Amino acid sequence: MLNLDNIKVEYEIQDFQCSGYETNEEKDKAVVFLECTRKTEEVCCCNCCNEVYQHDCNYINLTDMPIVYKTSFKVVVEQLRYRCKICNKTFNVEIPIQYPGTRITYRAANWIRGLLKENCSIRTIQRITGIHWDTIRKVQNEIMDETIWERENELKRQGYHPKILAVDEFAIHKGHSYATCVMDLETGDVLWVGKGRSQKDFEQFFKDVSSDALSEVIAVAMDMNASYNNLVTKYMPKAEIVYDRFHMQSQFGRDVLGVVRLDEARKHKAKSKELYESFEEDKSKREIKQEAKSERQQYTKLKKLRWPLLMNSENLKEQQNKYLDEILRDHNDLAVCYAMKEEICHLYELTDYQQALDGWTRWFDAAKASNIPALVKFASQKEKRLPGLAAHAIFRISTGKLEGFNNKIKVAKRIGYGYRDDMYFFKLIRYLSIPHLHEFP
Ligand SMILES: [Zn+2]
Repeated sequence: MLNLDNIKVEYEIQDFQCSGYETNEEKDKAVVFLECTRKTEEVCCCNCCNEVYQHDCNYINLTDMPIVYKTSFKVVVEQLRYRCKICNKTFNVEIPIQYPGTRITYRAANWIRGLLKENCSIRTIQRITGIHWDTIRKVQNEIMDETIWERENELKRQGYHPKILAVDEFAIHKGHSYATCVMDLETGDVLWVGKGRSQKDFEQFFKDVSSDALSEVIAVAMDMNASYNNLVTKYMPKAEIVYDRFHMQSQFGRDVLGVVRLDEARKHKAKSKELYESFEEDKSKREIKQEAKSERQQYTKLKKLRWPLLMNSENLKEQQNKYLDEILRDHNDLAVCYAMKEEICHLYELTDYQQALDGWTRWFDAAKASNIPALVKFASQKEKRLPGLAAHAIFRISTGKLEGFNNKIKVAKRIGYGYRDDMYFFKLIRYLSIPHLHEFP
């Protein structure tokens, strides 16, 4: 087995030489001592180039990458301090292996880089390396700045102008606050992340990103509930607004199907209660009890129906389909809303703008004529968004890349776990969105 004693450490650094090597008894700690070999006569003042004298001597402890697993490896470097004979300036000899601004070596910094590139969390890296949290974060910040900068330059060289964007919000701090994010749907780059989700918060995007950079945007996918559309119209008048199907569908599921389903369920529950009470008064009528029981069953069935109603009917199992059919047969309002949901799916499949426009118009007319309060309300709220809904036929885009994007946010949350610094977190998200980041040549 490889043992620390078998390893000869030879550090070769300009102006330094190894003066000693020690391990502790347990052999889990090793230290290399480096002394400065530079002669004072060879050093001149960094300020005025005149002669200097040695003024002080310190020992700098640097953490290095271990040679053997589960050992800590430190390098103790002699650092000489000089003073100028003429201008009195004092300065240190630079240590070439020291990673700037930290107490670790370049080798250790590269080790951290490698681990960060594999999306290891800061906490994990700290456990593996024993290096301080702040140092790891400093290295990480530098990697991110560098990579984002390189990516921006690469895009600039290519004459990049984004054409198709998506804007959406996401929750931070366990849903206590929100951030808004703009993504290029073609390249996958996150162009901007900012705190908050209000119109004012999103306006910052147009301050941070120049109008020239956005001059070729032709379409922007978004949630119609947010107020992003006003700003897109204001700052990118040529861009078409496309309302995202997933937001639209999930809203319909919540505000229409959900409301109508619970409404029907409540009716059955009330009816059942009423029947049970009348049964208590007149125990001779067994059929009342039977009826009350069946009302109660209907209630339970409806309560369980949440997912089958929302799911694409093609993905339902035979049993679920049968179950759904039974319920819909007995509940007219729910059946109407369900059919309207299926129609939304169909409308989002259209590829002809005029057809989509006509289709959505018919959909809104039917919804408003339904007399189902939740459906009427939904239709009157959304009707003014008609062009953005039909625009999907031309630009078949959605914020659906979000699926992948949300995973990146999850990764970012895991990597930076415990941090409450939003700017750091937003940078991490941008960094993770850079395509080909983890592809090695
Ligand atoms: Zn000087």
